[in-house]
Amino acid sequence: MGRFILHSDLNNFYASVESLYNPNIRNKAVVVVGDEEKRHGIVLAKNYIAKSYNIKTGDTVWEARQKCAEELVCVPARFDLYLYVSRLVKDIYREYSDKVESFGIDEAWIDISHLAKTYEDAVAIANNIRTRIISEIGLTVSIGVSFNKVFAKLGSDLKKPNATILITQDNFRDVVWKLPVEDLLYVGRATSKKFERARIKTIGDLANTDIKYLKLTLGKMGVVLHDFACGRDTSPVESIHDKEKIKSFGNSTTCPVDLVSNTEVKSIIYMLAESVAERMKKKNYYAHGVSLWVKDTDLCSFERQMQLSSPTNISEDIAKNCYKLFLDNYDWQLNVRALGVRVTNLTTGKMQYDLFESVNNFEKKQKLECAIEKLRERFGYDIIRRGNILVNQSLSSLNPHSDIHIIHPIGFFKAK
Ligand SMILES: [Mg+2]
Repeated sequence: MGRFILHSDLNNFYASVESLYNPNIRNKAVVVVGDEEKRHGIVLAKNYIAKSYNIKTGDTVWEARQKCAEELVCVPARFDLYLYVSRLVKDIYREYSDKVESFGIDEAWIDISHLAKTYEDAVAIANNIRTRIISEIGLTVSIGVSFNKVFAKLGSDLKKPNATILITQDNFRDVVWKLPVEDLLYVGRATSKKFERARIKTIGDLANTDIKYLKLTLGKMGVVLHDFACGRDTSPVESIHDKEKIKSFGNSTTCPVDLVSNTEVKSIIYMLAESVAERMKKKNYYAHGVSLWVKDTDLCSFERQMQLSSPTNISEDIAKNCYKLFLDNYDWQLNVRALGVRVTNLTTGKMQYDLFESVNNFEKKQKLECAIEKLRERFGYDIIRRGNILVNQSLSSLNPHSDIHIIHPIGFFKAK
């Protein structure tokens, strides 16, 4: 049985939502900016008109204005609104399949293998979804239709806005192989540099490179990417029921040098909390509890938990409480070898606010963190660092997103 997978991507999502709620700006150059208080916020998203002036995500508003020959409309980001609209769109997807896997706020895979027998069926369903999102929500999507997730995603990137692109077992060598290798899902900056050195320019180059060589230069990931390039991606689209299985998010790290002070421990806790909070926000989870895991230089470890006064997905809240757990429970008989931060007791969706913390304050922190995460996604983790992470040179080289310093998922230390 063949698989039929869609990848649907809302076109210029933030800017499109803003135009939807304010039709007056529809025919103007629009950017959505990260910080509503300051005039010099950064560009988080832009519409096609702004894009035509070469305005890019990450530009400062000042830079964007310099590039734009006409009046530039700057609107502050309203993440709650985007989340709300995103849910409406995903509800439509779920009418077609219970296998709907979100990829960020504006993208999702939909497995429609149970509805389609041929590619014609699959394209008709994609077109139907596209038409419904225009008429019921007022937004456009680009949908890739293919036999696996990687090519479906690639398809949705090929034509914008408002298009359906089909990539089949028969045409993928013609359609996909001429594209730059960076277009392949999971080829990040580090990997793309390695490909450059190996003179692998296109996805076709990758597909035709000797697998032994790839294994040697890129390790296991080389084999995985080679499989993707050849159309051998068998990863399933997560079912909405899988999401309910998420019980905790966590990260841990064995430090490059043993930690000798509270300040150093604090900086690592903040770094781990940031990566945990980022994943929580992506999946829209809030935690009622945090837990800290500590291993000393004798390899003895313990874990301590606490409940929070109100649920959060803000890294500072998570870090602050984990650091408190550390101070309350560690007596420094030995130095610290490894640390782990985990959040527990999760809820998803609408949340209650702490009576002592205004809604505004919470949203402000959340927006700031989202803006930072966007920047890091685009420019790498190093673009913004907390001051307290720079206390020790060898620690500041840690990067929770880098493949060199491994920060293990929670499963790694859960079983102790
Ligand atoms: Mg999009």
